[in-house]
Amino acid sequence: MGVCKCELRCMSVCKSELRRLSKRKLAMWKKQYLSKGGRLTLIKSTLSNLPIYFMSLFVIPRKVRLRLEKIQREFLWGDMEERRKIHLVRWEVICKDKRHGGLGLRYLKDFNHALLRKWLWRFPIERESFWRRVIVGKFGEVQGGWTTREVRESYGTGLWKDIRKGWEEFFLRTRIHIGNERQTRFWWDMWVGDSKLKDLFPLLFRIAANNSAIVADLWGRQEGGGGGWEVHFRRPFQDWELEEVNRFLGYISAVRVQEGEDFLVWKIERKGTFKVNSYYRSLKEDNSPLFPEKEVWGSYAPLRTRFFAWEAVWGKISTIDMLMRRGWSMANRCNLCKENEETANHILIHCGKTRDLWNLLFSSFGVVWVLPDSVRNLLVEWKMKGMGKKRSVVWKMTPICLFWCIWGERNRRTFLKEEMTNTSLRKLFLRSLLEWSQQFVDLDLDYLSFRNLLGDRVVV
Ligand SMILES: [Zn+2]
Repeated sequence: MGVCKCELRCMSVCKSELRRLSKRKLAMWKKQYLSKGGRLTLIKSTLSNLPIYFMSLFVIPRKVRLRLEKIQREFLWGDMEERRKIHLVRWEVICKDKRHGGLGLRYLKDFNHALLRKWLWRFPIERESFWRRVIVGKFGEVQGGWTTREVRESYGTGLWKDIRKGWEEFFLRTRIHIGNERQTRFWWDMWVGDSKLKDLFPLLFRIAANNSAIVADLWGRQEGGGGGWEVHFRRPFQDWELEEVNRFLGYISAVRVQEGEDFLVWKIERKGTFKVNSYYRSLKEDNSPLFPEKEVWGSYAPLRTRFFAWEAVWGKISTIDMLMRRGWSMANRCNLCKENEETANHILIHCGKTRDLWNLLFSSFGVVWVLPDSVRNLLVEWKMKGMGKKRSVVWKMTPICLFWCIWGERNRRTFLKEEMTNTSLRKLFLRSLLEWSQQFVDLDLDYLSFRNLLGDRVVV
């Protein structure tokens, strides 16, 4: 570990992996017809997992990382060698988790970091292991054995050097569980709160009787498992020091020393154990606005249609206004009503043709609803209580089904120059809704019970 030879090998293994990937597998996959939803599943199950082994041992070279992300991107959007498709949604958005409107793919750089931090977690745990002894032999360890001394070699790109770089950031997400088997230093280590005691209480630190004492040595144990702090100072306190003394006692009284060894607790996981994913997530804190995750991904609509809904929420379906923003020059007129401009919100919500379907839907469910302005808000607000289980499963699918049908009609008109009448469009919508509902076998729906479910107000 830690020598350049390994990295070179990693680089070449990565490269050959890439070649294998791009040539054989992708070509094979591309031949089959796969929807974007299907491609997403494939990326998650194979493509993005391929480099994990390497990334948990090596810092993945920038070039390789970018290339891997590019392959995923192109595959997702269905680029062929000869023809590049439009990448509708930015990669940064795609890499957000689903709660924030992403697809949950990973940023390889951060994920690589998170994977390597696992070694920082294992370091204090695997005290007898060979790899740890080798590293300690080379770099030495800090008191307490939580990690090695900082690696100061200015040349070379040692593996441990790269891992050790993340220590401060890693350590902030842990706390030390104090046992009585001497490791942690009372004043110098961060073991209570987020700071070192010597920095929080500098006056007291200066007059401490033993300022390199171990935590467990300052804990007076009593019979029956109890105990208390016994910190000694070189001289009695001055009046003006008493306030700091009070604060100090209050501060450390929150911690008790327990039997056993010291160990690290991973603060951001409830169980206290390090998880690569929780570290990765903590690197990517996100305050972006609410995304209707349940309404998009949690319904029983077919995957490719959920993917379409996801694009629509981001306003990224290839409507005319979108294409124009990307530099195409064309007249913007909605092909359905032939009056307004075509935007995602118009075609999926406000267009006269679309409203006709919404009205059909609301009247058949016996619902009065004012349509919100945008696809995002529509889905965020798409909640209805007290409908009964079967009806509510169908209800959850309806907006996506409606989007899909109207988008299909829009494409028929745009590309095939064919039009459906209002009546056949309504029929198509209800028939699709029935078919989708039947996919979900628990519902056990036939045509008649479906009509009953919708209510007898349905007039097509
Ligand atoms: Zn229109």
